[in-house]
Amino acid sequence: MTETTFASLGFASTILHALTANGFTKPTPIQEGAIPAGLAGRDVLGIAQTGTGKTAAFALPILQHMAANKLHNRRFATRALILAPTRELATQIEQEFKKFGAGLGLNTVLVVGGVGRMGQVNRMSRGADIVVGTPGRVCDLMNTRNLLIDQCQFFVLDEADRMLDLGFMPDIRKVVAALPARRQSALFSATMPGEITGLAEGLLRDPVRVAIASVSSTPLKITQHVHFVDAGGKRSLLNQLLKDPSFTRAIVFTRTKRGADKVALQLNQEKISSAPMHGNLGQNARQRALDAFKAGEVRVLVATDLAARGIDVNGVSHVVNYELPNEPESYVHRIGRTARNGAEGIAVAFCDSTELPYLNQIEKLTGIKMHVASGIRPAHATPAHKPARHPDLVVRKVKPRRPQYAGAKTTRAA
Ligand code: AMP
Repeated sequence: MTETTFASLGFASTILHALTANGFTKPTPIQEGAIPAGLAGRDVLGIAQTGTGKTAAFALPILQHMAANKLHNRRFATRALILAPTRELATQIEQEFKKFGAGLGLNTVLVVGGVGRMGQVNRMSRGADIVVGTPGRVCDLMNTRNLLIDQCQFFVLDEADRMLDLGFMPDIRKVVAALPARRQSALFSATMPGEITGLAEGLLRDPVRVAIASVSSTPLKITQHVHFVDAGGKRSLLNQLLKDPSFTRAIVFTRTKRGADKVALQLNQEKISSAPMHGNLGQNARQRALDAFKAGEVRVLVATDLAARGIDVNGVSHVVNYELPNEPESYVHRIGRTARNGAEGIAVAFCDSTELPYLNQIEKLTGIKMHVASGIRPAHATPAHKPARHPDLVVRKVKPRRPQYAGAKTTRAA
C-alpha cells in the first residue's frame, strides 16, 4: 500500500509549501480520514480530541477550495464560519488558517468576546473569507448584521461536546438556522453524548464518520503518578517537586479560579515564575500569560479546566493536578496538554483523602491504576466529603418537613 502524503491528497502548491515550512510531512490519522472527504465536498463527523491534528483536518480542505475559487465577498459576509467553545481555541484555529493559507490572500477574521467588538466590525466590513469565533460574539455580530452567514459555504462546529457543557446550544441553533441549506459542514467532538448525536443529525448531510481514540484512552506516552497528601501539605509538595529542573514547563490545575490565583501567587513568592490562567481574567491578560508561557518566560501556568481547554503548547514536560477534577473526562483533557506531537510527558496527581472518589472515577475511566509516588492510598474517602458537590457551592441547612403526602393519604382513604 502506498503511503498517504499531503502531496498525494492533491493540495495546491502554496498550501503544500506552507505545510512543509511548518514541519507537516505526513497526515495524522484524523487527517487521512477527514481530508479526502472534505476535498470531495462531503460533510464530516469527526470524533477526536485536541492533539490529534483535527484543526488541519477541517482547515486544509476549506483552504484548498478557496485557493481554487477566488471570490470577492459581500460586505460583512463570510464564506466559511468556524465555531469553537473558547477564545483560546478560536485564536489557535485562526492562527492555523493563517499559517496554511499564507500566500492565498484570504481575509481571516477572529470574532471572540472579551475584546472590543469595533475592530471586528471594521474587519468584517470588507467581507471575510474565513471567520473563526466563539458562539456568543458571533451571535452578537449577527444580531447587528455585522456578520452575515446566509451565503456561507463552509461551517465547522469544533469541540461540540464542550459547547454543550458550556451552555452554548441555544446560540448554536441560532447560527445553524441562519446558514444556507447548500453548504458543506463538519462537526468535531471528543465524545458523542445523545444531544450531540441529535445535533449532528440535524446539521450534517450523509456525513463521513472518522473516529480517533475515545476520550477515555489516555495517550500511552504519558506517565501517570499520584501523591497521597493532606490538603495542607500540597503547597510544600508542589514547591518541592518544582525544584526538580526536569519540570521545564508545567501546567498546574486547580478546580477554582480563586485557587489558581492563590497557587500562582504562592509560587511567585517562592521565586518560581508562574502565571494564573482563568476565565475571570480579560482576554488580553489570558493571551499574555499564554504567550509568556510559550516563550518560556513563565515556567508554570496555573489554570482552571475551562481556561486550559485547547491550549496547544509544545514541550509541556509536566501536568500537575493540584486538585483533582470532579469530572473524570476533565482529567484526560488536562493530561493531554503534555506529550503532544509524539513527545513524552508526565502527569502528576495530588490526592487528599476527600478526593479519593475522584481518583477512583478517573482510574475507572482510563483503565490505568496510577503509580503511587508518595503517601499511602487511603482505604476510604473522608466520610464528610460528598464527591458530587462542587467546592464553590454553599449548602444551606433546611428544616425537616412534614411527610408530604400525609394529607393526600387521608383523602384517598376517605
Ligand atoms: P490539533 O489537534 O489540531 O490541536 O493539533 C495538535 C498539534 O499537532 C498542533 O500543534 C498541530 O500544529 C500539530 N499537527 C497537526 N497535524 C500535524 C501533522 N500532520 N504533522 C505534524 N504536526 C501536526
